[in-house]
Amino acid sequence: MPKQKVLKSKKTLISEAKVTWDEDSRPRSFVFDDYYLDDTVGTKNRQHAFLEKDTLTERWNCNKNLTCTIGETGFGAGLNFLITAEAWLKSCSNKKKQEVLNFVSVENSPLPKKDLIRILSLVPELSELSKELIDGYPPAISGIHKIYLSNKSIILTLMYGDACDMFSSVKNSDHPFFERSNNPVFDAWFLDGFSPKNNPSMWSSNLFEVIADLSYPGTIFSASTSEHNICKKLARVGFSTKVRNGNAKRDGSIYGVFVKPVSRNRIAEDWESTLFNSLYSAPWYLTPEIKKPTEAIVIGGGIAGCCSARALAERGISVTLIERHQEIGQEASGNSQGILYPKLSTSISDISRFGISALISASKFYSDLLDNDKLKVLGDRCGVVVLPKNLKDRLNFEHIASLYSDDFVQLLKNKQLDNQVGLSLTHRFGLFFPQLGWISPPEACHSLVKHSLISISNAEVKEINLEDATDASGRSWKVMDDMKKVIATAPIIVIASAYNSGIFHQTNHLPLNRVRGQTTAVPPTEKTSHLKTILCGKSYILPIFKGTQTLGATYNPNEVGMTNRIKDHKENISRLSAVDLSLTRDFKKIDMEELGGRTSFRCTTPDFLPIAGPAPKLKDYIEDYKFMRQNARAHIPVPGSSWEGLYLNTGHGSRGLSYAPMCAELVASQICNEVPPLELDLRQALHPGRFIIRDIKRNKL
Ligand SMILES: Cc1cc2nc3c(=O)[nH]c(=O)nc-3n(C[C@H](O)[C@H](O)[C@H](O)COP(=O)(O)OP(=O)(O)OC[C@H]3O[C@@H](n4cnc5c(N)ncnc54)[C@H](O)[C@@H]3O)c2cc1C
Repeated sequence: MPKQKVLKSKKTLISEAKVTWDEDSRPRSFVFDDYYLDDTVGTKNRQHAFLEKDTLTERWNCNKNLTCTIGETGFGAGLNFLITAEAWLKSCSNKKKQEVLNFVSVENSPLPKKDLIRILSLVPELSELSKELIDGYPPAISGIHKIYLSNKSIILTLMYGDACDMFSSVKNSDHPFFERSNNPVFDAWFLDGFSPKNNPSMWSSNLFEVIADLSYPGTIFSASTSEHNICKKLARVGFSTKVRNGNAKRDGSIYGVFVKPVSRNRIAEDWESTLFNSLYSAPWYLTPEIKKPTEAIVIGGGIAGCCSARALAERGISVTLIERHQEIGQEASGNSQGILYPKLSTSISDISRFGISALISASKFYSDLLDNDKLKVLGDRCGVVVLPKNLKDRLNFEHIASLYSDDFVQLLKNKQLDNQVGLSLTHRFGLFFPQLGWISPPEACHSLVKHSLISISNAEVKEINLEDATDASGRSWKVMDDMKKVIATAPIIVIASAYNSGIFHQTNHLPLNRVRGQTTAVPPTEKTSHLKTILCGKSYILPIFKGTQTLGATYNPNEVGMTNRIKDHKENISRLSAVDLSLTRDFKKIDMEELGGRTSFRCTTPDFLPIAGPAPKLKDYIEDYKFMRQNARAHIPVPGSSWEGLYLNTGHGSRGLSYAPMCAELVASQICNEVPPLELDLRQALHPGRFIIRDIKRNKL
């Protein structure tokens, strides 16, 4: 087997770019010794380099309905993106039907927002889109960030990290035998960034191999250099290249087209599974290749199901959402308020990385809903303050605040803390998350399903079966009730029915647990009524909503019973005292019998990560990966076998409000073969097949 370099995403934090402004007020990169915006070049000449008449714009104009995906190395101040987006909008205005521009760019040192604003103010002709970019500009946290512009007709995927790592992590697998297997494909590449001399990693052979793996014959590229060496590297991975001469204001550039993949020779024996160690983990997590469907079924009308239905409908897919209650948002998603709250960690783990990505994207996701919420019932971006649980937290909090930018989290002390919270606390320091707040899950559910392509059906699903169609339409799922009456049929199902996601024979291997939880609604006291933000610690308290304040929530695995219990109210109040003693001082006067609140059940998983992705076939996994019982690193070049068209979005535990939108986007991207919202290792961490693999390795299966 040929040895290749394993390309793993660097799970490190990134630092913002250092910008120096020269005496002519031109922004220059301190590290790469080059300009971000050379105003002697101007917008027209940039257009010349990347949007030649005979390339992209011409393609757009001759295609009626087109979704175009462009990859870029080096986002900088986003000028290529803005110029392209503007040209795209112009070309769309000539057409009847508008589709989506996916612009995927990578940046290892994102510009501080203040510098981005200053640079973009120098290009007033792009001001409208610039404003949307600035509004959605993500904090400098490594990973994949999506920004939606111009009514979602433009999706900017901004990947913070090393170019090679990040584009590799978009691929379906890092196993060299599956380098081109079901990857999202790009129509064009803008190879930019600073010059090869100053920034060689942006022009490396490794990166070009990855770019080739994400291209198809016909993919075009343009590179902001005319170096012969770069031409050679691109030719080696399958691109034809031509040099375009520069003009007085700009050096030359290279352009060309992907001709065909350069085959990496492999013999038949390479494909046989062996007990021997492999450099690469077996591709049990590969997502199957499917044709983009026109119809889908979502089972479950909680926040996970509603987010899934919305994500599919926004991609033009007609969705039947099946819910067993008369109304959606009744079970775990039935609490009147839920918090978008962070899981704090000083270490960088799958769960902390996923948690932060999900949280950032959820706060943007709900922002759109909140902006249109005239009645102010959907939630409030009031900010979240986390107070220390013990002395050790002081050091941890300082560390956490130093890891992330101020627009994500700030360490507040003394008066600053009291002013933010609105009342004086015993604690003298805390972490403040300005963009977070609370959401009403049932209201969010209702708002999400308001879409012309979503219809709701009230029924309890008891059985699902994949059947061959009598016509040429291919195989289709039949969804049935307890009388075997067919409720709906479609080639795709997304199961989002929390604990009940495991009732089907296809999914009953999933290790799902139920955890009872109860919130308590207290009348505001003289002190707590002034609360402006959400306060979290061992427990939480929210600002007044509809005359009460919510505290919570208890966490009791394996307990049942839907009625509220006084002992749980007492527990919520006593844990709030541990958050800050001063908060519950006046609670003694409260009559426990009179307290409001709500009981429901979380659906949790053993590793506390949600389950999102294709539903694996248990028997096939056990057979295909049996060598893992003896050697977890055995050479098994076999993709994981999954139920055709069956996906899961479940297991959201105590954080469904932030996890569900991200998981819905992930599953929708897998169904439509799009650039995913999470890196490959995080996709593996959420994959429904991970528990089977874990149990095979532990010899439990
Ligand atoms: C007390 C408490 C407090 C919480 N607080 C927070 C918080 O502050 N922040 C936060 O992020 N998270 C919080 N959570 C967690 C959050 O509520 C859940 O993670 C989230 O609601 C899960 O959403 P879901 O759609 O997966 O599940 P659910 O909301 O339970 O939805 C599943 C849906 O599937 C339907 N269904 C099931 N089986 C079938 C079937 N066979 N046929 C048809 N329909 C079916 C159900 O009727 C239900 O509507 C809290 C949870 C509890 C219990």
